Formats: sequence, C-alpha cells, structure tokens
Amino acid sequence: MTWSRRNFLWSSSGMTAAMAAANVVYPVLTQAAEPPRKWHRTADVVVIGSGATGLPAAIVARETGTSVILVEAEKDIGGHAITSGGNVPLGGGTSAQKKYGIEDSPDLLFRDLTDWSVVEPSGFPDYRYNDREIVRAFADNSAQTFEWLVAHGVVFVDKEPDEFGGRSVGNSVPREMHAAVMNWPMVQTGKPTDPGVQAVMSSGNGLMRPLEAAAKKASVQIMLEHKMTSIYRQNPTSGRVLGISVDNKGNKLNIRARKAVIIATGGSTGNVNFRRMFDPRLTEEYCGLSGMPWSDQDASGELSAIGIGASLWGLYNQTGEFGASLTKPGTVGCQYNYVNLQWMPGSPVFDRARASGLRVGNWQDLILVNMLGKRFYDETGPEFSSNNYNSIKPYKQDSYLNAKNMKYNPINFINSALAGIGDGHNGGGPIWAIFDADAVAREKWNTKPPNVDIDAGFFFSADNIVDLAKKIVMKYQRIPMPPHNLEQTVARYNSFVDSGVDEDFGKPKPLYKLTKPPFYAAWATPVIHDTRAGLRINAKCQVMDMNGRVIAGLYCGGESAGGFSQHGLARATCQGYIAGKNAAMENPAI
Ligand SMILES: Cc1cc2nc3c(=O)[nH]c(=O)nc-3n(C[C@H](O)[C@H](O)[C@H](O)COP(=O)(O)OP(=O)(O)OC[C@H]3O[C@@H](n4cnc5c(N)ncnc54)[C@H](O)[C@@H]3O)c2cc1C
Repeated sequence: MTWSRRNFLWSSSGMTAAMAAANVVYPVLTQAAEPPRKWHRTADVVVIGSGATGLPAAIVARETGTSVILVEAEKDIGGHAITSGGNVPLGGGTSAQKKYGIEDSPDLLFRDLTDWSVVEPSGFPDYRYNDREIVRAFADNSAQTFEWLVAHGVVFVDKEPDEFGGRSVGNSVPREMHAAVMNWPMVQTGKPTDPGVQAVMSSGNGLMRPLEAAAKKASVQIMLEHKMTSIYRQNPTSGRVLGISVDNKGNKLNIRARKAVIIATGGSTGNVNFRRMFDPRLTEEYCGLSGMPWSDQDASGELSAIGIGASLWGLYNQTGEFGASLTKPGTVGCQYNYVNLQWMPGSPVFDRARASGLRVGNWQDLILVNMLGKRFYDETGPEFSSNNYNSIKPYKQDSYLNAKNMKYNPINFINSALAGIGDGHNGGGPIWAIFDADAVAREKWNTKPPNVDIDAGFFFSADNIVDLAKKIVMKYQRIPMPPHNLEQTVARYNSFVDSGVDEDFGKPKPLYKLTKPPFYAAWATPVIHDTRAGLRINAKCQVMDMNGRVIAGLYCGGESAGGFSQHGLARATCQGYIAGKNAAMENPAI
C-alpha cells in the first residue's frame, strides 16, 4: 500500500520546535495499515531496535536456529544502552553475588520489587504499582540473563556487587554489576579509554559492542538505517502479526515475520505529544533528552502497536516522580546536558550534538533563573531519588514501618523548575545558568565553541546583566527576559552572599557574588531521562490488547514496555532475553 494523509496525522501545529531541534520527524499512526501484497524480506523473527532489549532478543532467538532480522533506525547499533553508564542491576542469585557471599534469590528479588511499603522521601512508592506477573518473570530470569551476558562477551568489572548507578533495584541486597568498557571506542568521544581504566570503568559501550559482535557471529541480519514505520496484522486490529514496514532513506520495505515481531524501540520520552499524556508539563523546551542524539525515543513502537490494538500499562510509573525520570542537568550551555553523558568533538554524532557543554563542578558558582530572570530554588538541590539497597534503614520487606518511618522530605528542584512563570503555559520554559568571569575561572571553563552552543541559542554572553538579558533570544524563550528582573535577581543574590543567608531558597551559605564581566547565560533546562510506562505485556513479553488478550506474534520489552517501574538496563536486557526465547518458540504463521 502507499502512504497517504489518511494513515498519518501530523501533530496539530505541524512540526514542533523540539522535533525540528532534534531533526526528527515522527508520524503519528492513527489507523492500522492493510497487510502488504508484497514482502521484500522474510525472517522467522523480526526485532525492531538494537539497544539493550533488541540485541539480546535477536541473539537469543537466532541461537535457537530461527532466522532473525534486526532493524535499527540509526546509523549504528546500541540505542540509549550504548550511551549508558553500563550499571546493570541483575540479581536473584548471580554468579557475581555468589562470589561475594551475597545471598539473593528470585523470590527475594520479586518481593523487593513488589514491596508496597517502600516509599521515597517524597511519598512516591517505587514498587507499589508494578505488575506482579511482569516482575515475577524478571525475577525468575534475572540471574540467567546476567550469566547469558557474560557468556556472550560482556566483561563486568571484577568487584563486589553494589548499589551504584541503578534506580529502584530493591532494598534487601546489593545487585548492581558494571559492564567494563574494555577497549571498545566510546560513542561519547570516538576513542577507546585509557588502557589503565578499561577493566574498571563502567560503560554501555562495554555492554553493547560485545553483544553486537555476538549478534554478527550468530548471523543475525542487522539492517541499520531502517526505521520501522508500521506493524502489520492479519486484519487491521485482529489476527496475528505478520511483519513490519520500514523506511530506509525514503525507500519503503516490507519485512515479513514468520513467527514474531519484537518491539524493542526504547520508549517514548522524545515524543512531545506522547510524553505529555503522562505529564502535561513536558512541553517542547525539554529538548535535552538523555541518550540523544545517538538515538531517539519517539514512541514509534508504542504508536504502531496501539494502531493495531495494543494496550498501554502501568501508567502511574511514568507519572510518578521516580529516580532519574527527570534530571537536573550536569552541563550547561548545550542542548544535550544529561549529567552522565557529555558529547565530545570526536563522537560520531557530534555534528548533531553541536557542543559538549560546561560541566558544573560546584553549583555555588552560578545561579539558575527561569524565563523571566527569577531564581526558583536552591541551585545545589538534587533531583528525585529512588530506593536501592541501603536507602531505607532498617529495611524489612513488606513492613509497614518502612513507609511509616520514612521522613517526608521531598526533593523539589525539578518540580520547581517545571512550575513555570504563571503565564498559563504548561511547560516551565527554559532555565538559564547565570554566572560571571570569576565563576569561569573557578570552574576552569573555556566558554568558546565547541564547548558551548552559541549558534543554536543555548549560550549567551554580555558585558553587563541588562545586555545579557536582552540577548537571550531563542526558540524556547517564548517571553523576552525582562532585563530589570535579572538585574534585581543578581543584586539580591549578591546581598545574600554578603549576609551569608539565602532568604529566598535556603541555598546553604551562598558563596560567590556575580560581579565580574563578562556575564553569561547558559542553557540549564531539566533533562528527560526515562520511560517507565509502555505497552502492556505478559510474563512472556507478549503484547496484550485492550481486552487483555495476547496479540499473537507480537512481543515487547525494555522502555517501550509497561508495568515495571525500574530504570534501565536490567529490565531491558532481561525482557529481551525473555522475548527472544518465547518468540523463537512460536509456530510459524506460514
Ligand atoms: C546516558 C544514559 C545513561 C544510562 N545509564 C544507565 C545505567 O548505568 N544503568 C541502567 O540500568 N540504565 C541506564 N540507562 C538507561 C538504559 O540505557 C535504558 O533504559 C535502556 O537502554 C533501554 O533499553 P531499550 O532496549 O528499551 O532501548 P534502547 O537501548 O534505547 O534501544 C532502542 C533502539 O531502538 C531503536 N529504534 C527506535 N525506534 C525505532 C524504529 N521505529 N525502527 C527501528 N529502530 C528503532 C533506537 O534507535 C535504539 O537503537 C541510561 C540511559 C542513558 C541515556
């Protein structure tokens, strides 16, 4: 069939600013496509996406003897997983846990991740709304997935499991292991790391490059720059799934899946309209998604599946304020400013990232202001938190005391940044870091490109505060910053440094005045990080419809799957493992 306006509805206002900024265009499927007359390629299992879910799924399926095609929208494999920290909280009794005498079991892991009594200081419960069936499957397959990764070339740092880096990974025992980067070139820099740290530094490069090698060795057919645009079912919203269509630089191909299609597309936070179903505040200005511009999370997997009848699941997990779902930036002055990901000029995607940003060593060195030039919170304040091992003391599974003893102490930096300026808009608008030449010296920053993104309007400088405010003109600054506001804000803050007390936001002893020109305004808007809700799946990772029935031949895992509030790599790799195994066991359709 040919694409027509009937099939796609563009976002009501045309291409949004964030889409334009990210240079991506995503069609919104409004109705299912008729199965094609012609299939250009065929495999038993077709996997969409080559990240933490897709590569394990493809390899596992292929190693059972089934043929596998894996399609990937980008020029290279890896998804957000390859940009990640490589901290992998798989537990339930792994060889690494046993080596260090840590007693864990699938039951302990399951009970940890479904413990109603675990709450954060904000009152948000990490695990209360997890789907038991999905978490049980994770708990039962978690240790196997870890051993499987090791058997497929992933080297973990040789040290005791800990709780560093994961989010919402259970409170009973440490489970976190770290993929060693080894000598794989980092996507962040284009170069391998120093040989001295290769075995001890954790990185997603060390997780995904070995899996890529394993997939190639197993003869998985990897089709890069092939973006899935729709999923075909026998009838538009009934019958089994038959295959997918992909777009390759404007050419359309239909790929038949004799057994199953696995959606491993990595979530939805890059799609402004989709993410706003969960949180209306997340408008276009939140354009610094972590993991981008290596790969997007444009909800194409979710939308295509919804188009053929799939249901979403566990939506509270996306709305709730957990861990790193929304984060404070780690760098300022560039669009992609996630705290654990800095793009350097050697990176293969640096042309899209445009700047590395200025890494903030000390939040005392600057003030943060909103679109109107007003401070809104203690700049040193952190983001949301999650519950991991050691974060509730004493912890006793399922004890009402866990929730009762938690001291209410919400971390409100993000909420305050997103609160806005009272002009009736949902999004909070840009947040700007304001600092002076002394701060630049203290931080040892070089304020020239490619460290900062001047051309796209993410960094400004001027010789005085009034001119600085006037210069802040860019697509997300929907209201010009009143110069006198910024002047008053800086003067008031300087008076707090004199008195040693931040009377407005309680910043612990403000240390440095802003007095020495030039003055700077650098993009410091919060970053969207995580998708924790997506398609409804069952224990086998089969996608379910709105009537709770399995959609035959359709699987999903990772950030595009719902029902499991946990950040990252553990659930993605484990669900890829589960989906690959079960998809390969399907009876061929034809
Ligand atoms: C900077 C950063 C650090 C992180 N650190 C950690 C960590 O230390 N520990 C942890 O547990 N988690 C971490 N995470 C989270 C973790 O990386 C993700 O949760 C995980 O990669 C999700 O796996 P996934 O398979 O769902 O998606 P991804 O790994 O993102 O893979 C999805 C793939 O699908 C492709 N795709 C999407 N749509 C299509 C389409 N229509 N057609 C074809 N291909 C498509 C994408 O291009 C991408 O390659 C981090 C994330 C980031 C961004």
